[in-house]
Amino acid sequence: MKDGFGREIDYLRISVTDKCNLRCRYCMPKQGVEVMPHEEVLTLEEIFRVVRIMESLGVKKVRFTGGEPLVRKNLVKLIGDVGGLAGIADIALTTNGVLLGEQLDALKKAGLKRANISLDTLDREVFAQITGYDGLERVLEAMDAALAAGLRVKINCVPCRELNDGGIEALAGLAREKNVDVRFIELMPIGCGKAFRGIASEELLARLEHTYGACERVENAVKSETAQYYAFAGFRGRIGFISPLSHRFCGDCNRVRLTVEGQLKLCLHYDNGLALKPLLRGGAGDDEIRERIVQAVREKPRAHSFSDRTAQEYEEKRKMVQIGG
Ligand code: SAM
Ligand code: SF4
Repeated sequence: MKDGFGREIDYLRISVTDKCNLRCRYCMPKQGVEVMPHEEVLTLEEIFRVVRIMESLGVKKVRFTGGEPLVRKNLVKLIGDVGGLAGIADIALTTNGVLLGEQLDALKKAGLKRANISLDTLDREVFAQITGYDGLERVLEAMDAALAAGLRVKINCVPCRELNDGGIEALAGLAREKNVDVRFIELMPIGCGKAFRGIASEELLARLEHTYGACERVENAVKSETAQYYAFAGFRGRIGFISPLSHRFCGDCNRVRLTVEGQLKLCLHYDNGLALKPLLRGGAGDDEIRERIVQAVREKPRAHSFSDRTAQEYEEKRKMVQIGG
């Protein structure tokens, strides 16, 4: 399925819940967000139907996110069902890792191959300050267990001046010790993120070279890869930078998102998209839904415009925890 700019859309990110067991300060207010009434949230059967229809349109990769996806009951069953679709080649999960250890066996059996674990620091106190939960050890244990179980693991960190600036080099060192890629994501000015200052990838790269020596840029095998990777001598994993602000990668964008209330969201930055729930619950057939998805995807914006203030009127008003990153 192609959008109006000729980009092949083959990647669907699904937010399966807006609930979360952490309160990362750049993502979620301390008191939490008002969660969607239960009946407004897509059921797992409805989500599966959307994936099935989108698979028939050429979607090959699905990522489950949230809120925290592992707080959604029966996610394992959905992963198993999606894995059973012939066209889906890749199923991934973005998680804070807190519940990963206890669900790992079931997730692996259901067909999960990859997990991105969000981790902003290796300092126990800073972890607790950022997330509101003293759980660093638990997340690190889950990471080790996932590696031991043969999952491909990436660590995602959002560097913020006010929160974890001092621990970036140590966190990158995880890729030296373990077979994980550590990726630094530029803070996006969405929701609570607006209250913090992100750190540009250029600065981080210079700092890491200062600590670990010169690195080499790795050419991406996949055009739509959002991270730029670097190899440091003696490291087992790579260091990646996801820089939506300083290096816009929209030209190769291949993704759309399904929000928890059933909106097919075309770009992270904008709140417009296709409301699928009324179709799913209003008796629309698969062909009608397929046609509406094709039409909506043609309207996918060319690029985000986080730095263009004139775009504010269409801007996403939800918080990241409600979108899923
Ligand atoms: N709870 C899961 C987790 O933390 O991995 C999945 C959802 S979370 C919203 C997905 C990712 O978005 C996390 O890696 C988080 O650090 C990142 N994130 C949250 N707010 C952000 C912001 N304002 N800018 C950039 N990334 C953000
Ligand atoms: Fe929860 Fe993930 Fe947001 Fe942290 S980043 S509050 S873990 S949704």
